[in-house]
Formats: sequence, C-alpha cells, structure tokens
Amino acid sequence: MARKFFVGGNWKCNGTTEEVKKIVATLNDGQVPSADIVEVVVSPPYIFLPVVQSLLKPDFHVAAQNCWVKKGGAFTGEVSAEMLVNLGIPWVILGHSERRALLNESNEFVGDKVAYALSQGLKVIACVGETLEQRESGSTLEVVAAQTKAIADRVTSWENIVVAYEPVWAIGTGKVASPAQAQEVHNELRKWLHANVSPDVASTTRIIYGGSVSGANCKELAGNPDVDGFLVGGASLKPEFIDIIKAAEVEKKA
Ligand code: PEP
Repeated sequence: MARKFFVGGNWKCNGTTEEVKKIVATLNDGQVPSADIVEVVVSPPYIFLPVVQSLLKPDFHVAAQNCWVKKGGAFTGEVSAEMLVNLGIPWVILGHSERRALLNESNEFVGDKVAYALSQGLKVIACVGETLEQRESGSTLEVVAAQTKAIADRVTSWENIVVAYEPVWAIGTGKVASPAQAQEVHNELRKWLHANVSPDVASTTRIIYGGSVSGANCKELAGNPDVDGFLVGGASLKPEFIDIIKAAEVEKKA
C-alpha cells in the first residue's frame, strides 16, 4: 500500500506573532503538490497554535510540540492532550530528542505519552534516534528499536502514528545523514515493526527522516524507498520548506 509522503515543520521555540504570520503567508502562497500527494503539518510553539491554525490553508495542519502524559489537572506549566483536542489541534510531536536529552524523557515516559495522546484522539509524530556516541559504538539499531518498543508495548493501533527517525547528531548541526544511512535505519525500523508488531503496520506506517534536511538535500533523501517524508527544524522557518514539500514528487529508487 502506498504511504502518503509526510512533511512536518518543527518550529521549536521560535517566532513572534508577526514572524509566524509571515511564515504562514509563505506556506499558503507556495506552489506545492496537492493534499493527495503530500500531507503537511507545521508545529509552532503552543502559544501560536490558534493563530497559525486560523490562518493556514485547510490543506495544511498543525501539531503541538508536546503534551502532558495523562489527564490534565494539577500540573503547572503543562498542556494536556484534552486541551489540544478541545482546540481542534490534530497532531502532536512526542519524544523529540531535545526533550529526551534536556528534560530526561525516558523511552517509557515517551511511550506513555504516545499512548495517552492517541487515546484522546490525537495523531502522533513519534521521534526516535541515536546520539553520535551510540552510532559510533554501533548501537544505532538497538537504540531505535528500544525507543520504538516502548511505544509498541503501550499502543494497540499504529494507524495514527508517524515515526520520525532523527539521528541526534544530525539535528540542527548541518550534518545530514547520508541517503544510505537514512535508508538503512528506516529499513531496519520497518523490519522491526514487521517482526514485532505486524506486517501490515510495517508496510503502512510512515517513517520520516529528520536532521538538517534542506532544500538542497531533500530530493536525494526522498528517493529512498523507506523514507516517507521529513521532519524539518531550521529549514521549516524558511521559504526552502516549500522545496522540501515538493520532494514528495521525487520518484523512489527501486
Ligand atoms: C528537528 O528539530 O526535528 C530537526 C530535524 O531539526 P533540523 O532540521 O534543524 O536539524
């Protein structure tokens, strides 16, 4: 079954009201493939979600960059999955490496968040990826498998999950994974899903790549058979995000 190309833009902790309106205007004016070819989801900071959602053309959707692990209540500073649903926010990014590293989010905690967000009706971009040290010690596949297992152990359906493979050493560094490195991990993740979840989940789940994706390198990466799109940080704030969306039309290598 064909997996629709998916392009997410993670705006991280950036922007003013004026700046986000400008980014949205650029997105709305961009000549990009239609919604049956590519799914585009942008993720502004919480505070800008309503304004971005109200201005964005209906083909494009928004994602929060995180949500709380369980029902809201006495958790100062958190935003619950229920609140996102209440605002009509369809997607949430969970397990981003910046949160795993800086805020010590464990695999189990991320798995719990994914399960809770799904249970409330959100769709999830679930991030996995190894550090440079883990890659150099040869444990990349073990690390991403453990991160994926913590999710698999807690969810009953993968229908609303997009997996983002984001090698930590490639995020925000300008050091993009080579197309072969990306394809290798995506293919191994798909094999892991086949063996540990189901052949159907393996063939239908989108596995997108993140880590210094740009207008210049997106086409080569998109040509890989197991790269189903991108999660883009820095370049999603710039007009080149339009070129990255257009990579949806690149023909896959056999
Ligand atoms: C990200 O934050 O998810 C990311 C991939 O960032 P960048 O594209 O800037 O490396």
